[in-house]
Amino acid sequence: MLKTISSLDFEGQKVLLRLDLNAPISNGQIQDDTRLQAALPTIKFLSENGAKVLILTHLGRPKGEIVESLRVDIIASALSKLLSKDVNKLDDCVDEVVKKQIDEMDFGDIVLLENTRFHPEEKLNDPEFSKELASLADIFVNDAFGVVHRSHASTLGVTEHLPSYAGFLLEKEIEVLSDILKAPQTPVCLIMGGAKIDTKIGVLEKFLDKADSFLIGGALANTFIAAKGFEVGTSLFQEDKVDVAKDFMSKCEATFIPVDFVVSEEISKDAVARNLLQNEATSNDKILDIGPKTIDVFLEKIASAKTIIWNGPMGLYEFDQFAKGTLAIAQAVADSDAISVVGGGDSIDAIKNFNIPLDAFTHVSTGGGAMLEFLEGKPLPALQALMS
Ligand code: ADP
Ligand code: MG
Repeated sequence: MLKTISSLDFEGQKVLLRLDLNAPISNGQIQDDTRLQAALPTIKFLSENGAKVLILTHLGRPKGEIVESLRVDIIASALSKLLSKDVNKLDDCVDEVVKKQIDEMDFGDIVLLENTRFHPEEKLNDPEFSKELASLADIFVNDAFGVVHRSHASTLGVTEHLPSYAGFLLEKEIEVLSDILKAPQTPVCLIMGGAKIDTKIGVLEKFLDKADSFLIGGALANTFIAAKGFEVGTSLFQEDKVDVAKDFMSKCEATFIPVDFVVSEEISKDAVARNLLQNEATSNDKILDIGPKTIDVFLEKIASAKTIIWNGPMGLYEFDQFAKGTLAIAQAVADSDAISVVGGGDSIDAIKNFNIPLDAFTHVSTGGGAMLEFLEGKPLPALQALMS
């Protein structure tokens, strides 16, 4: 059982709260504050229940060094606005200065510690660093679903030194995803696309006996198209996974790969898109979206499903010419009465770009990789550490 926070007393406690506030930032502006919004209930709960709330997050990929543009000040001020409460940013996430500042806080106060990935020890799950982090607080709360598949100092190491619990967001993610694994309403339709083929193929395997249809799009589909022996030209695909795709299709008759697609010879704003059948691509073509016939096949499967799990765009949705497949699938899943779970940074970005409201889906996961690894049934030590 996941140890949760709702019935705990936090009065007079120092709580180290690991969040995933890794929001997309460009030109000094937060582009999308979904992750911040999702973290608010736990922050408020801890603060209102009399804890000193010490928030810890990573931001970007500083590779263990201080990178000025990846300081978390901008996150602290955004949180402060959302909470209508001061959120001071401290200049590090460990050391005596930080400890002194924490001592001076009132209970109920909230601070944001500096980017934990400025320390190379974070990703190495270094025992000394973990101990130092833990020494700041009395209790550890992890509400960072997006990194729960990572065994880092701030997700796993600290749990060895502090009583550790799951926050509300993590609790909800695990509850929804566990239900889907345990007793899903059938038929189950698994829709997979996107570019990270390696991370997706394991989930397909895991669902062999669980899903009734597998709809494969995106660059992932190109590997399957190649496995069928068709030309994929200069498309993004994974040559060393062609055999895995072949093997999967031989085991699973319910695999639906594109019967037609949208191609172009180049990727650019003005790229000319052409529709081709599955066997019509030539060596100069890039397959960049699923075609209209494929959309029809996919929509039929979506319409009859009672549970839908979707990860990964159907095409290069960042360009209008190649966004139609992703839009059609997103709209169909949103319109469906089935239980629908969507995850993946780019999939959610696409949905937002299409102005489809997120509440049209049963659950929008804040984790892409974490959702896939959980569904795949991989052991997640940072999650195990929060179990009783
Ligand atoms: P998610 O973040 O939802 O898990 P991924 O990160 O796996 O999804 O993949 C998203 C990326 O895949 C997007 O940038 C999208 O443009 C790209 N993509 C999808 N289909 C194709 C394709 N056919 N060719 C090239 N890139 C593609
Ligand atoms: Mg992505």
